[in-house]
Amino acid sequence: MGIIEKMRLDGKAIYVTGAASGIGKCAAMAFAEAGADVAIVDINIEGAEAVAKEIADATGSRTIAIQCDVTSQEQVETMVAKVVETYGKLDACYNNAGIALNVPAEEMTYEQWLKVININLNGVFLCATAAGRVMLKQGYGSIINTASMSGHIVNVPQPQCAYNASKAGVIMLTKSLAIEWAKTGVRVNCISPGYIGTDLIMNAPHLKPLIEQWNAMAPMGRLGKPEELQSVLVYLAGDTSSFTTGSDIVVDGAFTCF
Ligand code: NAD
Repeated sequence: MGIIEKMRLDGKAIYVTGAASGIGKCAAMAFAEAGADVAIVDINIEGAEAVAKEIADATGSRTIAIQCDVTSQEQVETMVAKVVETYGKLDACYNNAGIALNVPAEEMTYEQWLKVININLNGVFLCATAAGRVMLKQGYGSIINTASMSGHIVNVPQPQCAYNASKAGVIMLTKSLAIEWAKTGVRVNCISPGYIGTDLIMNAPHLKPLIEQWNAMAPMGRLGKPEELQSVLVYLAGDTSSFTTGSDIVVDGAFTCF
C-alpha cells in the first residue's frame, strides 16, 4: 500500500468540537473526505446540524451532530458516550472549540478570564480525558488539540492575556497526557495555527485594521486558510503518525520564527 493510501481514514470514527464553523468545520470535512465517519460537536446545534448534513452530502460520511458545551463535564461525558454508541469505537478526536477575547489585563473581569480558560483549556482537559478513558480501554486512539501560536508568543497589538495563557496551557497539557499514555497506544498532539482567515475573523469589522497590521508583520504577508491545516490534521488522526506523540505542530507561515 502506498503512503497516500496509508494516510486514509477509512472506517475510523472521529469527533470534532467547535465543528459548526471555521477550523473545526474544515477539519471535519477533511476527515470525512479521507474516509472517516465524523461527529460534528458544537454548542451551536443548528450550525452543527447544517455542517453534518453538508459533509454527509459531500462525502457519504455517516455524520452525526451533537450539542455539547465543552465546559460541562456532564455534557462532554454524554457526548463521548454518544459517539461510541453510534460508531462502536473512537479512533480519533479533535478538541478544537475555543474563543478569543481582546481585553486589557487591568480591565479584564475575573468572569471574562474564567470564560476563556474554561472553554479553551478546561474544555480540552474534559474532552481529552473523557476520550482518553475510552481509548485507553481500546488500546489505541489519537487525540488532537487546537493550541495556537499564541501559546508560543504574545500577539500584538491586541491585548489577550487569558487567550495566550490558555493556549500555552493546551500545549503543556498535550505533552503531559502524551507522556502519561505513551506506552498505551493512545497518542496526544496539538497544532498551533498562526492567524487563520476563518469567517469569524474575516467578517468582524473591528478586526479589519488588525488584519492589516498582522499581515504587515507576517513573513508571508497574509493570513493562513483553514484548508491549509487539513493535511496535518489528517496525518495526526491517522496511522502514519504512529511515532508522533507529544508534538505541537506549528502551522503559522513562519510568524513565530523571529
Ligand atoms: P470559530 O469561532 O469559527 O469556531 C469556534 C467554534 O467553537 C464555534 O462553532 C463555536 O460555536 C464553538 N464553541 C464556542 N464555545 C463552545 C463551547 N463552550 N462548547 C462547544 N463549542 C463551542 O473559530 P476558529 O477560528 O475556527 O477557531 C477554532 C479554534 O482554533 C479555537 O480553539 C481557536 O482558539 C483556534 N485558533 C484559531 C486561530 C485563528 O486565527 N482563527 C488561530 C489559532 C488558533
